[in-house]
Amino acid sequence: MSRHQLSGVAIPSLDADTVFDVTVEEGVFTRVEPTGARGGGETELWPGYTETHAHVSLPANWDDTADDPRIVALQYVYHGVTHVVDMFGFPLVADAWAAGRAASAVPYPEIVHCGYAVTATTNAAGLTGHGVEFPAPVHMIATEADLEHAIRSNVERGGTFLKVMFTDGTEQPDSPVKFSRLSRRVLEFTARVAAARGLTAVIDCNTLQETRWAYECGFRLFAHSVRDRTLDGADWKELEDARFVSTLAGLRPMIMTGEEFEAEYGREGFAETQDLRNLEFARTVEKPYGIEFGCQETRTAALADMRRNALATLARDRLLIGTDSGNTGAYHGYSFLSELGLLRGDDASLDTRLRHQATVGGRRYFDELSGDRRAAHPLSAGQAATYNLHAPGRPLSALPLRTVVRGVPIDREAVARTIAEIRAAGADRKEER
Ligand SMILES: [Zn+2]
Repeated sequence: MSRHQLSGVAIPSLDADTVFDVTVEEGVFTRVEPTGARGGGETELWPGYTETHAHVSLPANWDDTADDPRIVALQYVYHGVTHVVDMFGFPLVADAWAAGRAASAVPYPEIVHCGYAVTATTNAAGLTGHGVEFPAPVHMIATEADLEHAIRSNVERGGTFLKVMFTDGTEQPDSPVKFSRLSRRVLEFTARVAAARGLTAVIDCNTLQETRWAYECGFRLFAHSVRDRTLDGADWKELEDARFVSTLAGLRPMIMTGEEFEAEYGREGFAETQDLRNLEFARTVEKPYGIEFGCQETRTAALADMRRNALATLARDRLLIGTDSGNTGAYHGYSFLSELGLLRGDDASLDTRLRHQATVGGRRYFDELSGDRRAAHPLSAGQAATYNLHAPGRPLSALPLRTVVRGVPIDREAVARTIAEIRAAGADRKEER
């Protein structure tokens, strides 16, 4: 029988002032016992990170290529991300993921997904609903029967929650409309049908107005924080029960300067897990894309608003930490640690709270989406031994000291080698064509 012991670790999510002894047997915690007062400087034990807004099958690379799903799985565990919420598209790679998982010596992260998203039909002006521009199918809905069909086919594909695309793509109320939008009637029956079936519905909105409309129609869970203004007390009163996912890392690449790219790609883990052609690309960036596309100022302001709104959500214990990974420049695994750094900024007083939401908060959400209502603490006896050990005092964006998934320690060097092998094999295959 495999048995493993951790002595004198701090577990801040259970008790900030106490140290614990922890026993793991056969990949499961069997004992988590307080043993004394915390003196300071102890290694901290936290649950693995949960990425709450990912797109595993979308292309994160600047040349618009998607990494092999076997690589994506390893990119996550390398960075200590042990649970992933896929916000649409996963069925595209579900078979490859399952085959990779069965063949892999390294444990994969747990994943929960929604199948394909639902969005608006094409409108009279010829605009399509948001989501149609991605290389993953979406369901266009106009009637309750359309929605029933979408839910049924998503459930058949293993989807356990509903992703609704709503935004018309404006970042500011007067900026150009890019997409058609669901009508109030469709929003209302969608929220009602999802609730009646016990399906959590996540909706994407950009502006406060969109968020307010969706909230009025019954939605409470938003895939991004509001980006066109900083919410005030009256706004929060109106959106009292709303939860928001932070996605700063996924929006930032568009406005990054060459120097910011260099800093962003210079952290540990990038070269070991990501496609190095992104580094070559970053060296060619002379000015941010936002300047070329005329959105540098609005996007910069949007990110500042999103961060402030995310931190206000954090203070209300309603923030979920995600990245929109799979969008260009938002790398699987790596960008999750970027997100923590972006949220924290220079405010060290946020460290523990952010880590708590990124781990315990994220896991509760993951469990909710996967239909597990037991609400057990992830670091309690009987739970899978999936955790990170962190050195106290290191930056939030640093790699964990050690990552363990269901009792199996992740050997980062071996993971990096496997990623390189899969990449090399893929490149060979391309050359043969
Ligand atoms: Zn997304």
